[in-house]
Amino acid sequence: MIINFKNKTMRIPKSHPRYESLMRRHLLLDGLKRGYVAEAGLIAHGRGEAFDYLLGERTIKEARNAEKAAVAMLLLSEKPVISVNGNTVALIPGDIVEFARSIGAKIEINLFYRTLKRERLIKEILLRNGAEEVLDTEKDFRRIPGIDSDRGRANPRGILSADTVLVPLEDGDRTEALIKMGKNVIAIDLNPLSRTSKYATITIVDNVIRAIPAMIKLANEMKDWERERLERITENFDNKKNLRRIISRMRKGL
Ligand code: ATP
Repeated sequence: MIINFKNKTMRIPKSHPRYESLMRRHLLLDGLKRGYVAEAGLIAHGRGEAFDYLLGERTIKEARNAEKAAVAMLLLSEKPVISVNGNTVALIPGDIVEFARSIGAKIEINLFYRTLKRERLIKEILLRNGAEEVLDTEKDFRRIPGIDSDRGRANPRGILSADTVLVPLEDGDRTEALIKMGKNVIAIDLNPLSRTSKYATITIVDNVIRAIPAMIKLANEMKDWERERLERITENFDNKKNLRRIISRMRKGL
């Protein structure tokens, strides 16, 4: 991988033991330079990396179970929406578009550090990656009750009218507010201790770069299953128990 550091061209060799991880950091840095990843997004990514270490940087069994339950819930939903921020789009723009298509979900941009420029850049990237429509809050938005930050802006055709919202890399406040509105919230968060993880209906403790491709495969497998079969999967999934198992797995791993 060729990178540009302080106007100097440098090469990161593929043989580097942390090549994949470095590449991801550079995707985020590139997004920052282009103006759509927020500075604080880099810090959030670092926190995620630390938790990923504790999981062995792989998809654990509990995450696979949560991913299956999440896909079942999304397939059962009438109005599923995938909420995206700068980090998600920097890391996996094409996968987000493909996953939305495979479950029939809308994509909506939601930013804590919102600027019109960031919103438009993110929209452009998703459209370039094949999205048919990307909802934003430029013209048409109302507020999610109880959220005073810009994360409270939501599109009436998207998050506001959704029955299920998938929130990769979220903060706890909005998860809680969406739950209070009666929505199902599916979170992807490497930190099983976060408020998001605790509040969500289904918490996927996995890296978004592994979780979304895994869920694309599951969606393709499960999309013709009968409703009863999907319902059984969601009913049998216990989020609190799953989180307890993950925390105990991390403790044992240490
Ligand atoms: P909360 O309000 O839920 O307690 P927080 O304020 O700690 O969350 P943020 O600072 O908004 O959370 O960070 C977002 C979360 O995203 C972090 O918990 C981090 O572990 C997680 N995260 C970062 N990168 C990834 C990734 N690539 N995949 C999955 N999760 C990630």
